[in-house]
Amino acid sequence: EEEMNYCGGCGATLQQEDPGATGYVPEEALQKEPIICQRCFRIKHYNEASSVTLNQDDFLKLLGHIGHKEALVINIVDIFDFEGSLISGLARFVGGNPIVLVVNKIDLLPKVTNWNRIVNWVRRLAKEQGLKVVEVVLCSAKKNIGFDRVIQAVEQYRDGKDVYVVGATNVGKSTLINRLISDYSDLEAELTTSHYPGTTLGTVEIPLDDGRNIIDTPGIVYQHRLTELVSKKDLGKIMPGKPLKPMVYQLNEGQTLFFGSFARFDFVRGARQSFTIYASNAVPLHRTKLEKADELYANHKGVMLAPPSEKDLLELPPLAKHTLHIQKGKSVDVLISGLGWIKVNSEAGAELAVHAPKGVKIIQRDSLI
Ligand code: GDP
Repeated sequence: EEEMNYCGGCGATLQQEDPGATGYVPEEALQKEPIICQRCFRIKHYNEASSVTLNQDDFLKLLGHIGHKEALVINIVDIFDFEGSLISGLARFVGGNPIVLVVNKIDLLPKVTNWNRIVNWVRRLAKEQGLKVVEVVLCSAKKNIGFDRVIQAVEQYRDGKDVYVVGATNVGKSTLINRLISDYSDLEAELTTSHYPGTTLGTVEIPLDDGRNIIDTPGIVYQHRLTELVSKKDLGKIMPGKPLKPMVYQLNEGQTLFFGSFARFDFVRGARQSFTIYASNAVPLHRTKLEKADELYANHKGVMLAPPSEKDLLELPPLAKHTLHIQKGKSVDVLISGLGWIKVNSEAGAELAVHAPKGVKIIQRDSLI
């Protein structure tokens, strides 16, 4: 007979379906007592944090607990999908607690980048979100840039309190946590996993020397990010592996750019102008006439317009159209969450349309670069 089981480490409901979600336990581990999930097993035996995910509702329950405590919050976001990786409602849920905003993957920005401009841009957006950011740290987990500053900031701002690390999936949180583990844990201290009473949310605690903890929370899953909707294979293609090489396109009104068959960008109306594409070079761009675009997509999606393949395309929601009006005199980006962005270079104004899988967040913002 079936009985409900919980992880003896973190309290997550045990499950065998999804290795990426909280409470996953492989078949062979069911024989042991007490049963612990794979994530707790790795922490216990290898001192290694791994990525697990949680949906928005459960995540907000967990954030609710943070608001009632005094803590320092480290929020990691991804510069390649800044708005997509922001946690909605974070300001409300962390209460008055200070936030260190760690902006990861800066290695993806072009080598020649005005970093002060990026920091100011991030500060401005964080402020609009109502976040009480005490510091913005630009970093690259991959290139090992900026981590020292993250660790200094933890020391500087935590003031004897616990430190919560929060972020969306795929922002590089595990990489950062593992770095914190190697810097903080004296290896005699055993890493623990714990759960909040009344919830089944796995969190990991890294003990600090004053009896406080660094608390790793599961990565939140946002369906509005293309990165959450595509296959693993396509994920490797839409996430850039090296610094972005901006691609400039001079377009006339009535022209369209396809991003494989993931998305489509229409220049509907406006004076001839240039658009700069910031996206992975593993997603080929295809230029065509707007009037031919529907037909081209119908006949060539998943083959000439690829990735994704015809088969993987069936797993994605159908394209939905978003109309955007760019005002005169503004320098803006059009972000397709998870895929990249298009910088509109002319300040003459334009009418644009973006077609992207239904649910994917499309926004207009002040240009980042
Ligand atoms: P988590 O889901 O937030 O725990 O993120 P992971 O640490 O598992 O990283 C998610 C993905 O982002 C992996 O494919 C990493 O290789 C990649 N990644 C992490 N940090 C960086 C970074 O600084 N730069 C780049 N370019 N990729 C990164």
